[in-house]
Amino acid sequence: MKYFIIFGPPGAGKGTQAAPMAERYNLKHISTGELLREEIAAGTDLGMQAKALIDAGSLVPDVIVEGMLAKSFAKGKGYDGFLLDGFPRNLQQAQDLDAMLEARDESVTAVISLMIPDETIRQRISHRAALEGRADDASEATVTNRIKTYHAQTEPLIEYYKYEKKYHEVKSVGTIAQVGGRIKRIMDKLV
Ligand code: ADP
Repeated sequence: MKYFIIFGPPGAGKGTQAAPMAERYNLKHISTGELLREEIAAGTDLGMQAKALIDAGSLVPDVIVEGMLAKSFAKGKGYDGFLLDGFPRNLQQAQDLDAMLEARDESVTAVISLMIPDETIRQRISHRAALEGRADDASEATVTNRIKTYHAQTEPLIEYYKYEKKYHEVKSVGTIAQVGGRIKRIMDKLV
């Protein structure tokens, strides 16, 4: 199995690009944010625990997202691999992912990193707030904290994956199709 990670700050377009990528390369798309929102919508205990943290723009505990991830990995039958969207989000998660994959003699195939400036993050998220109605997009304070959380906890993973020679960067500006084309040029060499 191949294990791809689509990486980037909030609002970089990970979810938007992940859907066509997953389809083109027959990958199971796993969005930890989406899985958490499903738990919230279903009103589970896990969802209730996660909601306060998501609304604050903080990360949900590693053990929660990693439990969801393990369950999703078990549903990979018929796929050529997985496309992780929103995971890993800190160093501990990256190390736990490596350990999880090593236990089955597998490893991360590559990281596709979508880059946008902080000003663009805000513009895109406020636009998306109107379209999708996500509570964590609607509050300026939440968005500010998500950007902060990204720089403090998630961005250091760039060095982690560069060191492992798995890091590929794409400018996530222009049209959705333009960004998709840049991703395709990289992915076609990796599958
Ligand atoms: P975005 O990329 O716009 O931030 P996501 O849907 O990926 O949106 O994530 C929404 C929220 O869900 C995050 O701000 C965080 O609170 C929580 N979350 C998602 N993935 C993780 C993760 N891997 N670890 C911890 N929290 C997560």
